[in-house]
Amino acid sequence: MPLGFLKSAREPSGGQRASASSVAAATARPDRASVLGEVEELGIGMFWATDAAGQITFLSQRALDDLGLEAGSLVGQPMVQVFHDIDSEPGAATQRSLAFKLKARSKLEEQIVSLECGRNTTRWWRLNGRPLLGANGDFLGYRGSAVDISGQYAYDTQIARQSKVDELTGLANRRKLDERLSATLSAFRVSRRSCALMMLDLDRFKQVNDTMGHPAGDELLKQVAQRLSSIIKDRGEVGRLGGDEFQVLLPDMDDRGTLGELANRIVQSISQPYTINGRRAIIGASVGIAIAPYDGLDSDELTRAADMALYSAKDTRGGTYCFFTSDLRDAANKTAMLGERLRDAVDRDELSLAYQPLVDPETNVVKCFEALLRWHDPEEGPISPAQFIPVAEQDDLIIRIGETALRQACSDALDWPDTIRVAVNVSAKQFVRPGFVKTVAAALEASGLPPGRLELEITESVFVGDLESVDTIFGDLKKLGVRLALDDFGTGYSSLGYLKGGHFNKLKIDQSFVRGCTENGDINPAIISAIVALAKALGMETVAEGVEAMDELALVRERGADLVQGYIYSRPLTQDVVLAHFAEGMMKVTPEGPARHRAERISMFRKVGLIHEDHYYDVILRNLSKTGARINGLAGVPIGTDVVLDLGHGQLVVSKVVNATESSQGLKFETALISDGTGGFMTRHRISPYSLAEAGIPLAALGAGAFPLAKWRDANKGPPRFIQLELTTSG
Ligand code: C2E
Ligand code: MG
Ligand code: MG
Repeated sequence: MPLGFLKSAREPSGGQRASASSVAAATARPDRASVLGEVEELGIGMFWATDAAGQITFLSQRALDDLGLEAGSLVGQPMVQVFHDIDSEPGAATQRSLAFKLKARSKLEEQIVSLECGRNTTRWWRLNGRPLLGANGDFLGYRGSAVDISGQYAYDTQIARQSKVDELTGLANRRKLDERLSATLSAFRVSRRSCALMMLDLDRFKQVNDTMGHPAGDELLKQVAQRLSSIIKDRGEVGRLGGDEFQVLLPDMDDRGTLGELANRIVQSISQPYTINGRRAIIGASVGIAIAPYDGLDSDELTRAADMALYSAKDTRGGTYCFFTSDLRDAANKTAMLGERLRDAVDRDELSLAYQPLVDPETNVVKCFEALLRWHDPEEGPISPAQFIPVAEQDDLIIRIGETALRQACSDALDWPDTIRVAVNVSAKQFVRPGFVKTVAAALEASGLPPGRLELEITESVFVGDLESVDTIFGDLKKLGVRLALDDFGTGYSSLGYLKGGHFNKLKIDQSFVRGCTENGDINPAIISAIVALAKALGMETVAEGVEAMDELALVRERGADLVQGYIYSRPLTQDVVLAHFAEGMMKVTPEGPARHRAERISMFRKVGLIHEDHYYDVILRNLSKTGARINGLAGVPIGTDVVLDLGHGQLVVSKVVNATESSQGLKFETALISDGTGGFMTRHRISPYSLAEAGIPLAALGAGAFPLAKWRDANKGPPRFIQLELTTSG
């Protein structure tokens, strides 16, 4: 065996020398070549060599045997084509590529490489080697040794994988996500980059698990993982934290418009039906989004922020996304207290019902009333059901509340003319609960209301979980003779499949399609027409919800909506008022309201900042829409002035004063705000706390998401242009 080259090579690494000498002890005065030969034979080490061009000139016979290759088949080939770099595990110490080292003629120390063998398998070797220099310093090639570590390597990587990969879905697990998030954030903090974190939670996954079994639940999670990965692709890292919780890390992402669209796509995609063992199931998803460095600088802070946003999304109605704002922190505390209060209120019987008419827009005659829960808290004042129903849904309180509402509505309706129906909202949790049909039957029986006068309003969210048991409930309710309405149509899972079942007598077009539908270029009129046509084809009545302006009423009437419900006819009324109306004869209402829809403005009373030239003023924000705002608190501001509105948390809006009175100004925004996913508005981008740091505010001084822009005012230079009025603290 040609071991001659070793004579000119320097010693192999120390480790091999030690094992060589221990083997050598068995033989008397062995020569160098025979010792090395034995080292090879015993499988302790192998040897290799290259020429100056990096081509393999020698490989131990032992190696060739092991690899199942013909002698000479590797000799003459470039080393980098035979030995491949391994993908180092994220988090592990990375090694420079073999090609890099060979090119740099640096030593190889414990370099791990893989080789494809003849038997179509992969082996892993650990290489040591040194460049060989001639007498005049010429590079002659490499000389080195190798140890086959395949067994240990495969085991180690398996262990590493096990602890970083979620076994069920193959996604990153919590440990890997945590490491990745911390590493990303600390690196990005130095390089001043942004990073978004999305927390995802499946709505009603538990229901699938409970009714279809755990293997079905597992299968569902796998499919969710696939859908998520195919949306995120290489934009970020997707992982599963455990249970039905997923997380997405999106480096260099701070555009809330793009993030909102992405979150929306995720929600839509996950809400499409799944087929599991031949059965169909539907779930939903909620997403919470937080962005570093705005909402948190380190991984703990950012994770907490995204979690809070997720809770808020779930509270809103599920099937939606929500961005973190510092208001959420306060809201989270409030919700906890709300639950306590609500329980007390239910015990003290403080909840009541109000009735809002549904009117035929051709004749203005009332056909039906929707029962809506009202709660007047002695301290907080009126609390909207949109706020407390989700809280009640978190535990069984909704069952009690729902049952009481159902009984009350049935008995109130009995006092109305017998052509008038009553519609009662039923939460999905109530609907799928065993015994629901019996509860309905009992309420009808106790009141004596004919079943055909009771309408149950349910939302698309009942079509999640196990669809077969939902079908059974529909069948039973039909037998009972009650009518069914699909509420808020178009906002939920938006799958038309369940309309084909023929369960519904009525379709309620969601307010979001109606409001502002007369604005130029709005596609909502087309959607309304399509929904009406679809409902007619399937024999259902349509209701346009939330009609407030005359032009909206004209539009929905023209598009063929059978009934209209909205402030244009009436706000919800107490039973006493309803009875008083009926006492005067058949109930007809005259529509009354503004001629045209006005862009959605949120009324508020919030202290914000206004920057003009080098001055920072305090102003009160009175209302806010996507395209403008009204402020109070400054005098002498001419129309046409360019200002920057500071909405807080780095949200700066370049604006122009378009109208003004003595103490109040109307602003038009240069760039429209975007929807925050939960009914509010926000800027697409925020100015980075890093820029603020550059302006003299140290990063460490910035609280979570709170960037004290107002501090700038202290650095004021020239005299102020406008008169700062005293801000009153009440509206
Ligand atoms: P919903 O079933 O879609 O009820 C219609 C909501 O729209 C009511 O809000 C009503 O007051 C409001 N509305 C009607 N016309 C207009 C309009 O022209 N403009 C505007 N801006 N709003 C209009 P409300 O009473 O706050 O109820 C909110 C939601 O709370 C209801 O939405 C329903 O999902 C839920 N809810 C109310 N009562 C009950 C109940 O007894 N049980 C259950 N499970 N949910 C209820
Ligand atoms: Mg309703
Ligand atoms: Mg509705």
